[in-house]
Amino acid sequence: RKGCVVITGASSGLGLATAKALAETGKWHVIMACRDFLKAERAAKSAGMSKENYTIMHLDLSSLDSVRQFVDSFRQSGRPLDVLVNNAAVYQPTARQPAFTAEGFELSVGTNHLGHFLLSRLLLDDLNKSDYPSKRLIIVGSITGNTNTLAGNVPPKANLGDLRGFAGGLNGLNSSTMIDGGNFDGAKAYKDSKICNMLTMQEFHRRYHEETGITFASLYPGCIATTGLFREHIPLFRALFPPFQKYITKGFVSEEESGKRLAQVVSDPSLTKSGVYWSWNKDSASFENQLSKEASNVDKARKVWEISEKLVGLA
Ligand code: NDP
Repeated sequence: RKGCVVITGASSGLGLATAKALAETGKWHVIMACRDFLKAERAAKSAGMSKENYTIMHLDLSSLDSVRQFVDSFRQSGRPLDVLVNNAAVYQPTARQPAFTAEGFELSVGTNHLGHFLLSRLLLDDLNKSDYPSKRLIIVGSITGNTNTLAGNVPPKANLGDLRGFAGGLNGLNSSTMIDGGNFDGAKAYKDSKICNMLTMQEFHRRYHEETGITFASLYPGCIATTGLFREHIPLFRALFPPFQKYITKGFVSEEESGKRLAQVVSDPSLTKSGVYWSWNKDSASFENQLSKEASNVDKARKVWEISEKLVGLA
């Protein structure tokens, strides 16, 4: 049978390119889990995906009710879950004021981390039930969360501190909107959310890999400077960022190439190792990358997990 993969945020950028790459193989049915149905349908059509290879299902990661509803509708569809790709993200580098999820968490961490945390925890059962030979749970990471790299050292740097704001619920009322308890900074909130993504992947690996055989992985797909992720940046930045990445840092990858990379993490028989953060070298060959000290801190991973459980109502 075909594999069934759920990809969050498949209506643009990396998620769409991955959906297209997998659909084209004829070996995958892609569930595009998106907040904007019409946009996703148009995106799939203009990418040339044929109808029998995908289904669009509504998911708004900035609402935990929506996450639970998505899980219910997915189960009702009767399809097996073979691979889950947590890809969607918001990035608000120029926001002066924080925005919030339906439950009142700061939007970047609430969407990118907490929404995906609940989704992954709930769907772990479904992955477990699948009889697919290589089941995987993938969380898209980012170099911007790795302070052991040049790009990861561009200020403001990611830093979860002692998690005091996170433990307080990131609500801006009786707690800070930032994980470390500091003042709101949209660019930093995004980077912090990506650290949480990478810590979560490793905590999943430690807690569940042996017992379930599921492969847990994260990746840095390269700098895809053309995606919608930068839509809220100032126009000058948006104009200069792609050529800067192409000619100066040489970290630029096209959306198509990044989609092929993530598709490899979904389906390549040689990428079954669990607990790995994949990256690609200049010749587009994959390798196991090192995570920064903070993004591989075992104690922090456990604490982030435990606080996340409380915030999303699992504990
Ligand atoms: P895009 O903005 O193109 O795609 C993000 C996707 O997330 C969109 O489909 C968007 O939906 C969706 N999304 C945002 N908020 C929600 C929500 N509340 N509920 C459901 N879906 C939502 O960015 P990219 O393709 O660049 O980003 C994809 C992933 O790649 C992210 O995890 C990002 O951190 C990561 N990444 C990107 C890099 C880059 O250089 N671009 C580098 C490293 C990592 P909609 O279409 O409705 O807006």
